[in-house]
Amino acid sequence: MAVSDHVDLNTFIEGVKRRNPGQPEFVQAVQEVAEDIFDFIQDKEAYHQAQILRRIAEPDRVVSFRVCWQDDKGNIRVQRAWRVQNNNAIGPYKGGIRFHPSVTESVLKFLAFEQTFKNALTGLPMGGGKGGSNFNPKGKSDGEVMRFCQSLMTELYRYIGADIDVPAGDIGVGGREIGYMFGQYKRITNEFTGVLTGKGLEYGGSLIRTEATGYGATYFLQNMLKTQGKDIAGHTAVISGSGNVATHAAEKVTMLGGKVLTLSDSEGFVYDPDGMTQEKIDWVKELKNKRRGRISEYAKEFKGAEFHAGKTPWGVKCDLALPCATQNELLGPDADTLIRNGCIAVSEGANMPTNLDGVHKFKAAEILYAPGKAANAGGVAVSGLEMSQNSARISWKEEELQRLLVDIMAGIHARCEEYGKKPGSKVVDYVKGANIAGFKKVADAMLAYGVV
Ligand code: NDP
Repeated sequence: MAVSDHVDLNTFIEGVKRRNPGQPEFVQAVQEVAEDIFDFIQDKEAYHQAQILRRIAEPDRVVSFRVCWQDDKGNIRVQRAWRVQNNNAIGPYKGGIRFHPSVTESVLKFLAFEQTFKNALTGLPMGGGKGGSNFNPKGKSDGEVMRFCQSLMTELYRYIGADIDVPAGDIGVGGREIGYMFGQYKRITNEFTGVLTGKGLEYGGSLIRTEATGYGATYFLQNMLKTQGKDIAGHTAVISGSGNVATHAAEKVTMLGGKVLTLSDSEGFVYDPDGMTQEKIDWVKELKNKRRGRISEYAKEFKGAEFHAGKTPWGVKCDLALPCATQNELLGPDADTLIRNGCIAVSEGANMPTNLDGVHKFKAAEILYAPGKAANAGGVAVSGLEMSQNSARISWKEEELQRLLVDIMAGIHARCEEYGKKPGSKVVDYVKGANIAGFKKVADAMLAYGVV
C-alpha cells in the first residue's frame, strides 16, 4: 500500500501521533479515516503528489484563548476556549461549539476533522470547524451562563463571520447559549448577520434546526433498513443520551412506529419496557431543557421504568441502536453484546460514539452501521439552510425544510452506497463510503487551489 513518497498507513499514523502528542481523540479520528483513504488513493497519483491527506489532517489554524467571567458569588473564574478551523476548501468553516468539562484541544480537533467530511457529504458549501470550552454549564444560573457566553464571544468574534466561520450548538450549547453569544456578537460588531446557526426563530433561526440531527439520524437508519426490505416500524430501539439529538431521535423513531426502550445521561440509563410515547419524550425534553434535571427522574415518573445507575444501555436486547450522547461511549465489548443480542442496525447520532474496536466489530459482523459523519449530518445540513435563509433574508416553510432534510439524508445515503458497496456483494461499508465521498469532494477542491 505504498504511496508516492513511500509512506504507508502505519508510518502515516505514527507521524500523526508524533505531531499531536497527548491528543488521542484526534489521532483516533484520523486513523479511522486514513484506513479507508489509503486504499482509495492507492492508484490516484494526483492526491499523493499534493499530500492531500497529510494536509487535511493538519488544521488550517487553532485559536486558543482565555475566558474570564464572574460567578454569582463574585468569584473570578478562568476557563480555556478554542476554535479549530480545520478546512475551508469548499465553504466557510462550519461546526458547533461545545461546553463540557471534558473539552480539550484534542477533542475539538477530532470534531473539526470529522466535521470537514460530514459537511462535504451534505452536498452544501460548508468547510469544517469546531469550537468549545471546558466550561461546565451544569448547575450554573442563567446569569452565570450569560456572563460566560458574553466573555467568550468578546474574543471569538474576531475569528468568525457569516462568510468566514459560522459556529452552532453542540453538547452543552443550546438555544439559550446561542442567544447570549449572538447577542454579544451583534453588540460588538453592530452587524446582524448569519454568523451563528441554531438561533431562535425570532431572530433569524430556521424551523426544524432543533429537530434536524435526531430526525436525520433516524431517516438515515430508515434508508439503510430499506436496502434490506425492512423498516423501523415494529422494531425495538435502544438510544443513549437524553439531550437534543437523543430526544429527537426518540421522537422520530416513535413517530415511524418503532419502540424506544432507553435514554441515558452521564449518570446511567432508564429502561422502559413499555416503550416511550410522545408524551413521555415531551416530559424528558421539559426535564432537560427547562428544569435541567437528570434522566433518573424518568423512573420515578413513569411506572414500570427502571433506572440503571452508572451503566450504558447497550446490554438491553434490541433491533436498532442509536448512540446519541458523546464520543467513545460504545466500546468493543458493547458492540459484541449488541451483535449477539440480534441488533441489525446502528445509526450514530453522536460524533464518534463507537471506538475503533467497536467499529471493526460492526464492520466484521456486516450489520448495517452508519458512522456519525453520515448519520448525524442532518443538523449541519439544516444549519446550512439557515445560512442560506439568512443571506437571502427570508424564512422557508416547515414542509419545505422537512422535505429538504429527507432529501439530503437520502442523498448522503446514496453517496455512502456509491463508495462503500463491497464488490460482488450487497453489503455496504458505510464508514468507508462516507470517508471516501467526503474526502473526494474536499480533496478535489484542494487540488484546484494548488499548494496553499
Ligand atoms: P446535549 O448537550 O443536548 O446532550 C448531550 C447528552 O449526552 C446528555 O444526555 C448528556 O448527559 C450526555 N453526555 C454528555 N457527555 C457524556 C458522557 N461523557 N458520558 C455519558 N453521557 C454523556 O448535546 P447534543 O444532543 O446536542 O449532542 C449529543 C452528541 O451529538 C454529541 O456527540 C454531539 O457532538 C453530536 N451532534 C450534535 C448535533 C446537534 O445538532 N446538536 C449535530 C451533530 C452531532 P449529561 O446531561 O449527564 O451530561
